Amino acid sequence: MSHLLELRGVDAAYGAIAVLRGVSLEIADGGMVALLGANGAGKTTTLRAICNMGVKTRGEIRFAGRRIDGLATEAIARAGIGHVPEGRGTFTSLSVEENLRLGAYLARASERRIADDLEKMFGYFPVLRARFHQQAGTLSGGEQQMLAIARALMGQPRLLLLDEPSFGLAPIIVQDIFRILRVINREQHTSILLVEQNARLAFELVDRVYLLETGRVVTSGPPSQIAADETVRRAYLGQ
Ligand code: ATP
Repeated sequence: MSHLLELRGVDAAYGAIAVLRGVSLEIADGGMVALLGANGAGKTTTLRAICNMGVKTRGEIRFAGRRIDGLATEAIARAGIGHVPEGRGTFTSLSVEENLRLGAYLARASERRIADDLEKMFGYFPVLRARFHQQAGTLSGGEQQMLAIARALMGQPRLLLLDEPSFGLAPIIVQDIFRILRVINREQHTSILLVEQNARLAFELVDRVYLLETGRVVTSGPPSQIAADETVRRAYLGQ
């Protein structure tokens, strides 16, 4: 089976500080994968390595059949990888509309396509229609996370990288966001790479889990298998 994203022996470093060591992982086209691990394990760095953002990498990264390691961040986004970074990365002084239009910019979408995509986003996140002309900075944390996801989707990505979308949000909002991620995956065939601290939540969403410890993949498999592991239960599920 061909994979949408494939990392082969990826090292990543901030200057002289090595963070990732020989990371290999795959995401099937249409797949949903979670990257779990303790604070500082290198989850955020893995997403940054994929996007070639502020970290020096070695090794092979393939997306949709071609090498993307070494490409500029913008070219990687244009190739079809949408990144929702830690802290969401929305432009707080711009309106919801402006944020969403910026998301569409890289995809060079026509006005018609943008209008269609905006309607889709309003379907997933009705609150964005209600807040369309409001400054993004005035939205609640949950609404900002929804905006960040919608903005990434406006770029029509085949793969969405999500860095802790649950961070700082009330459980009920998180449930809502994860429910919508499932719908987006099903309806748009968008693959998802999810970084999460909350393993329980991640296990419910994804079909495959990778566990990172100090920059290395220590285990991977379907959530049912990973959740059955005694160490994982103790470290990540509080059992
Ligand atoms: P967290 O949940 O805390 O974000 P993480 O698994 O995402 O954890 P990373 O953010 O990828 O971890 O960080 C991995 C390691 O790299 C940590 O030891 C961190 O201190 C280090 N690190 C992260 N960013 C930088 C940077 N810009 N310069 C130097 N070291 C960094």
